[in-house]
Amino acid sequence: MCVFCKIIAGEIPSKKAYEDDDVLAIYDINPQAPVHIVFMPKTHRMTCADDVNGDNAEIIGKIFVAIAKVAKELGLSDGYRVINNCGAAAGQTVPHIHFHLLAGKDGMSESMI
Ligand code: AMP
Ligand code: ZN
Repeated sequence: MCVFCKIIAGEIPSKKAYEDDDVLAIYDINPQAPVHIVFMPKTHRMTCADDVNGDNAEIIGKIFVAIAKVAKELGLSDGYRVINNCGAAAGQTVPHIHFHLLAGKDGMSESMI
C-alpha cells in the first residue's frame, strides 16, 4: 500500500484539511509554502496526470472542486498554485495522483517544489 493509501486507511496519522466521499486533503508533512495542502482521490487510481483519460477524469474535477472550496475557506484570495508532479524527474515521490495547493509568499516564488 502506498503512503497516501495508508493515510486514507488511517494507518498513518495526518492533519486533514478537507474530506468528502471521494477526496481527501491533508497538510503536507514537509511544507514548501505557508499553506501547503495535498489533495488526492480516496482510491488508488492513476499515478499522476499522465494517466488521466476520458474514463477516469471525473475524479480530477472533484479534486478541483475541493481545491476551490478549501482555497475560499482559507481566504487565499491573493492567489495560489496547484501542482501535480508527474514522474520522478518532476520530483514525484508518492505514486498516487495528488495535487499540491501552495499559497503564501513562498508559494508565489519562482521556485517549483
Ligand atoms: P510528490 O513529491 O509530488 O510525490 O509529493 C508527495 C508529498 O507528500 C511531499 O510533499 C511529501 O512531503 C508529502 N508527504 C509524504 N508523506 C506524508 C505524510 N505522512 N503526511 C503528509 N504529507 C506527506
Ligand atoms: Zn495509494
